[in-house]
Amino acid sequence: MAERTKYILDEADMPARWYNVVPDLPEPPPPPLHPGTREPIGPDDLAPLFPQALIAQEVTTERYVDIPEEVLDVYRLWRPSPLFRARRLEKALGTPARIYYKYEGVSPVGSHKPNTAVPQAFYNAAEGVTRLTTETGAGQWGSALAFACATFGLECEVWQVRASYDQKPYRKLMMETFGATVHPSPSELTASGRVILAADPASTGSLGIAISEAVEQAAQAENTRYALGSVLNHVLLHQTIIGEEALKQFELAGDTPDVLVGCTGGGSNFGGLAFPFLREKLAGRMDPVIRAVEPAACPTLTRGKYAYDFGDTAGLTPLLKMHTLGHDFIPDPIHAGGLRYHGMSPLISHIYELGLIEALAIGQEDCFAAGVQFARTEGIIPAPEPTHALAACIQEALRCKETGEDKVILTALCGHAHLDLPAYGAYLAGNISDHELPEEALAQSLAGLP
Ligand SMILES: *Cc1c(COP(=O)(O)O)cnc(C)c1O
Repeated sequence: MAERTKYILDEADMPARWYNVVPDLPEPPPPPLHPGTREPIGPDDLAPLFPQALIAQEVTTERYVDIPEEVLDVYRLWRPSPLFRARRLEKALGTPARIYYKYEGVSPVGSHKPNTAVPQAFYNAAEGVTRLTTETGAGQWGSALAFACATFGLECEVWQVRASYDQKPYRKLMMETFGATVHPSPSELTASGRVILAADPASTGSLGIAISEAVEQAAQAENTRYALGSVLNHVLLHQTIIGEEALKQFELAGDTPDVLVGCTGGGSNFGGLAFPFLREKLAGRMDPVIRAVEPAACPTLTRGKYAYDFGDTAGLTPLLKMHTLGHDFIPDPIHAGGLRYHGMSPLISHIYELGLIEALAIGQEDCFAAGVQFARTEGIIPAPEPTHALAACIQEALRCKETGEDKVILTALCGHAHLDLPAYGAYLAGNISDHELPEEALAQSLAGLP
């Protein structure tokens, strides 16, 4: 086999459909429930927040959804994204395993998030919506949506968690450069924000509060809708372009993965890579082990409860059946901001319950060590989130070294760290510690489940 390190698809070979895993599962996932009636919600319940096209995708049972030409056009700014063989990392580890990574850091904002931000902006614009609201923590999602809104001429208004707004100015500047308006959350602009500020004028905010502010605005204002960057079925659907491309790239490589690893915050980059491979596995065409990796400080799949819970802290959203740590759970301030979410995608949760995927949790010290080793061998500094996947990938490669197995490992490298370098600075200065979640803290937040 030729000694290639990079597998690039021609634009003409870019997949033109997203893949919906639901019809291929042995049973469908439990539906979202209305928080008042506890009955399954209908399209009308979601209409104040999302355009009809996205509501339809949320519940579709079609196996494939065509990607609109206008969306493909924007995707072509950076897609197809490259698949790399990590030959230098393999050599440094001395492993017989073959390691591949699918790199999403080539997008305009440096992560996989535009894969769904772009279609979400497109469908809203097509239905006459003129403004989108959203929340953002560290700023990855906010910058992706700001870029997408600029592309389709929509206004974009972002509530950014106060603590990040103050500490991480670069993401805010990126959002503003794309034309978005960014508010620190809690803000005086919404009833939810005013309630919090009245009680605590110095509140540093939370993702839960920011969601409440963005949702409240979208529900009240004319021609305004809300956009969510992970968790929901339509978001994972859009991200499957990652796995569909990777399948074609493995054909070019003449290889087949035995182990697939990805990090899970709300589950979108992991599902996006894994679902097309899960389709192949369920059809008996390959048999990879599929493994989700989460932070030990926020161990939703490995230690959370599979139960109906709210998606936000204030309890404004429908009830979702998912692995959850409880909607008032506040994770420790680990550096992987994108993985600090109390819940998990209902689809990933369901697939985990069916036993089709595995999960493990890793502490952030091991993750940063993996991130640094990856940077020094492969030349890409991974975002703090995918260092979780890399740590698991390195574990597997070292097991292969012991057993002499030449397994093929595929990992999702969903973003780079160019705007997260202070996290590496803290690691290099020896200021990173592990936050194991105490059993009592978990029991307390689970006691608050609806
Ligand atoms: C948002 C984000 C995540 C976490 O979200 P998922 O939906 O689990 O993918 C992980 N990595 C990066 C780089 C992110 O921006």
